[in-house]
Amino acid sequence: MPKRPPVARTLPALHRAIDQLRARKAKVAIVPTMGALHDGHLTLVRNAKRRGLKVVVSIFVNPTQFAPHEDFASYPRTMNTDLDKLATLAADLVWAPTAAVMYPEDYASRIAVDGPAVAGLEDKYRPHFFSGVATVVGKLFNQCRPDFAIFGEKDYQQLKVVTRMSRDLDMRVKVIGVPTVREKDGLAMSSRNVYLSADERRTAPILHRTMKEISAQLRAGAEVETALVQGRTAITEAGFAIDYLEARHAEALMPISSMKDGPVRLLVAAKIGRTRLIDNMRA
Ligand code: AMP
Repeated sequence: MPKRPPVARTLPALHRAIDQLRARKAKVAIVPTMGALHDGHLTLVRNAKRRGLKVVVSIFVNPTQFAPHEDFASYPRTMNTDLDKLATLAADLVWAPTAAVMYPEDYASRIAVDGPAVAGLEDKYRPHFFSGVATVVGKLFNQCRPDFAIFGEKDYQQLKVVTRMSRDLDMRVKVIGVPTVREKDGLAMSSRNVYLSADERRTAPILHRTMKEISAQLRAGAEVETALVQGRTAITEAGFAIDYLEARHAEALMPISSMKDGPVRLLVAAKIGRTRLIDNMRA
């Protein structure tokens, strides 16, 4: 059995462990997660390891990015198996603070984000989400002072928000995006996939399949809005309630009306039963 990485649960323990990692000038990457690790998360860790970096994986289910009606309480928490998985990848350190360490009683600050954070995608349906994400990621960067941060393209708008924040606020953290890891049938891996019933799980790959079809149509010259309308119908008829299915500029995230306005990214968020799934791909 490979050895589990050490786990820091307090700031002094974290700082000691990071100082040790940095001995002999090693560069450090952080992989921020909310735990319930799957192969998508592990691919981020592998990516950092391949770059020769020391890897700190943070595991923290961040209360400030959940709205009261969302799934904070039921979000899967699987610390023991997470540590076993990270052992197999030789992750160097796990940062697993409690909520009281992150947000002591007199805590009073938040990072406000604009630009990609107000694109009318996730922000429209989860108004407090990106400020919660920016704040916790800003704190993680300050706590760990990494050289690199590895994020998944799975949360595409989040990747753009964090990249911009790091640049705008001179955080000196290079944000690296890693392509989405999928199940064999195309469903993007997600900690929330465990919520799906067997029927819902069979239906869920339609999100990816529909984006692939739209992409093929757009490449063949179809009109953007026509392809999106057809895609929304297909996803709705499969049993999803759609929040959005959009074609956006891949960097600025503003709406585009033709492939010529590209590079183009397709982004979708939809609910099946009680589970909300998001996905995206290059058009
Ligand atoms: P989460 O634990 O869901 O907050 O995700 C932590 C990090 O893992 C984020 O940067 C996500 O974008 C990334 N991630 C989640 N699912 C995947 C996936 N299927 N492929 C690649 N990265 C992922």
